[in-house]
Amino acid sequence: LFLDSPFAAAARLALSREDTHYILNVMRRGEGDGVRLFNGRDGEWTARIADPHRKGAILELVAQTRAQTSVPDLWLLFAPVKRQKTDLIVEKATELGVREIHPVTTRRTQADRSKPERFHIIAKEAAEQTERLDLPEIVPIERLERVLDGWDPARILYYCDEAGDDDGEPWGGNAGRAGPMLDVLRADPAGPAALMIGPEGGFAPEERTRLRQLDFVRAVSLGPRILRAETAVIAALSLWQAVRGD
Ligand code: SAM
Repeated sequence: LFLDSPFAAAARLALSREDTHYILNVMRRGEGDGVRLFNGRDGEWTARIADPHRKGAILELVAQTRAQTSVPDLWLLFAPVKRQKTDLIVEKATELGVREIHPVTTRRTQADRSKPERFHIIAKEAAEQTERLDLPEIVPIERLERVLDGWDPARILYYCDEAGDDDGEPWGGNAGRAGPMLDVLRADPAGPAALMIGPEGGFAPEERTRLRQLDFVRAVSLGPRILRAETAVIAALSLWQAVRGD
C-alpha cells in the first residue's frame, strides 16, 4: 500500500477511508494482520493493523523489509487519447517502470484530456500491484513545441514514427526512415531517455520534420503495422526493457 507519510519504527499511521476500505474489505485483513507499505522514499515496511476502525484504520509500523529502489531514468511522452485508453497508458507505463509521465499536446490532440488526479490514482494502484517502491511523477500537460524547446539534449528522445520515409535510405541519423527500435536502442549507450508516442491521428508533417531535425531525437519504428497509441506504448516499453534490462 502506498502512503504519503514518513516511516519510522513504532510510528502509528491513520489510513484514509479509501485505504481502510481497501485493506479491510478488498485485502480482507483484520486486527493484528500485517500490511506492506511504501512511500517512495523509505523503502518497503511492514505494519500491523493496530485498530481496524472502519472510518480510518490505525497501522503500527514494524520494520523495514526492503531498501528504497527506483526505476530507470525513463520518461514517457504521449498525446492523451480517449479516456479509457489514456488510463490504460498510465497504468501500463507505471507497470513497465517509467519514472516520469509527460502528457503532451500536439497539433492533432484536440482537447486537454489529461486529468492528473485520476492519473495519480491509477499510477498508485499500478505501482502497488507491481511492487515497485516509487510512483511515477505525473507532469502537467504541456505543448510538444515547448517540451522540445526546453529539452536537455543529454536525454535521448525515441520518437515512435509509424510512417517510415520511403526514400530508400538506410535508417540512421535523423534524416532517413525510422529505424527498427530494437536496433536503434542497441546502437545507443544506456542513459537518460524518453519514449514518445503520438495521438490517434499521428504527428502532423511539420512536427515530424522538426523532430527529425533535432540531434537528441531518434525516429524509431515498431514494425510494419500501424498500432493504436496504447499498443505502441506497451510495445515500445517492452522493447526498452528487453534491451536495457530494467
Ligand atoms: N498517423 C496514423 C494514421 O492516422 O494513420 C495513426 C497514428 S498511431 C494510431 C498512434 C501513434 O502510435 C503514432 O503517432 C506512433 O507514435 C505510434 N505508432 C503506431 N504504430 C507504430 C509503428 N509501427 N512504429 C512506430 N510507432 C508507431
